[in-house]
Amino acid sequence: MSETPATPEIMVTENTVAEAVATTGPTDQADQADFIASFRALYGTEPEGVWAAPGRVNLIGEYTDFNDGFVMPLALPHVARAAVARRTDGQLRLHSTDVPGGIVQLAVDGLTPNEGHGWAAYPAGVVWALRRAGHKITGADIQVTSTVPTGAGLSSSAALEVVVALALNDLFGLGLSAAELAVLGQAAENDFVGVPCGVMDQMASACCTDGHALHLDTRDLAVRQVPFDLAAHGLRLLVVDTRVKHALGDGAYAERRAGCEEGARLLSLGKLRELAYEDLPDALARLEAAGADESVVRYVRHVVSDNARVEQVIALLDAGDVRAAGPVLTEGHTSLRDDLRVSCTELDLAVATANAAGALGARMTGGGFGGSAIVLVEESDAEAVSTSVLDAFAAAGHSTPGIFAAVPSQGARRLV
Ligand code: ADP
Ligand code: MG
Repeated sequence: MSETPATPEIMVTENTVAEAVATTGPTDQADQADFIASFRALYGTEPEGVWAAPGRVNLIGEYTDFNDGFVMPLALPHVARAAVARRTDGQLRLHSTDVPGGIVQLAVDGLTPNEGHGWAAYPAGVVWALRRAGHKITGADIQVTSTVPTGAGLSSSAALEVVVALALNDLFGLGLSAAELAVLGQAAENDFVGVPCGVMDQMASACCTDGHALHLDTRDLAVRQVPFDLAAHGLRLLVVDTRVKHALGDGAYAERRAGCEEGARLLSLGKLRELAYEDLPDALARLEAAGADESVVRYVRHVVSDNARVEQVIALLDAGDVRAAGPVLTEGHTSLRDDLRVSCTELDLAVATANAAGALGARMTGGGFGGSAIVLVEESDAEAVSTSVLDAFAAAGHSTPGIFAAVPSQGARRLV
């Protein structure tokens, strides 16, 4: 069983810019019928339903979630879907249309963290997390398919976790809220798959709504739907998937996380979230006086300033001044590049090129070291900006990025 599924084709990006700025809907009816038929062919039974959960981009607030801070993701039209039927014999059968290989079969009471299982660890981890929380899951047949590009920083893993959690919640009558399902998805990824991640991705996939960005306070998971109707403002939010993933990213996340914890400890804070932006200069001076590593100083500056940028963007959106959020996104990128140092050549090129070509602002989104950047542009400039980015990548000898418009979409839901 291969670890990495083929990246689902979301759009053509070669040199066809008109297509490059098109949006991608989740599925059509014919596709849905095929998906159900493939479940039937695979398992010899009918699915009891089909569910969908989206990937996301984060508008602003990066590396803030493990500091109890603020984030502001929006759901993409791209979704993971799951067709599911309950079983009563304690067996879990898993299949993905996006991964070569057959059915993965596991006993629910034999699920053990960090045992491998490749992609199947994500859905299996959800079953494990539900059972650990005391919910009775007697087995299931699950087939998944996804239009969320994998490993592009668009949270295909969270989409997969949340869609499975929602399906099992409905079928087994667990009565869990969207936020509770998100937390269980995060637990699956942290404790079963073994990937440290904050709760933003799962919360975005579970809780976002059409036409809104989600203001999430990661301290208590309080959410507010902030209207973000790009079309009404004549704007587009482009996603530039660089299609690269630098290996450096794996250790870097844990290192940034440890650095932030060290900063909080030296400042006698529980979490960096408690530090107000006005108090940042004083706090940085205290860190230096306490002999903190210079990296810790930079990490604290990033986290506290990015939390402030979330507040700033929300105030602008609430005031209907969406364009003015552009420069704040670019400031966020500079902070991620220079203070947190989680960007890379390709992301920096996408941001610099887009801005030089007339974008209102741009930043990397997600964990960095590859993955995707977002670009806020006037609708009328979207094509020219996309062309500039494609040309710059070609001139630099990078692989062709995928570019599409992020339309703020609905979070996890039942389709059938
Ligand atoms: P991201 O969440 O940014 O896309 P991750 O590395 O966190 O990247 O998660 C990607 C992994 O999630 C894949 O390698 C695979 O194991 C799993 N995954 C995502 N989508 C699918 C899918 N459609 N089918 C099977 N596994 C998937
Ligand atoms: Mg992920």
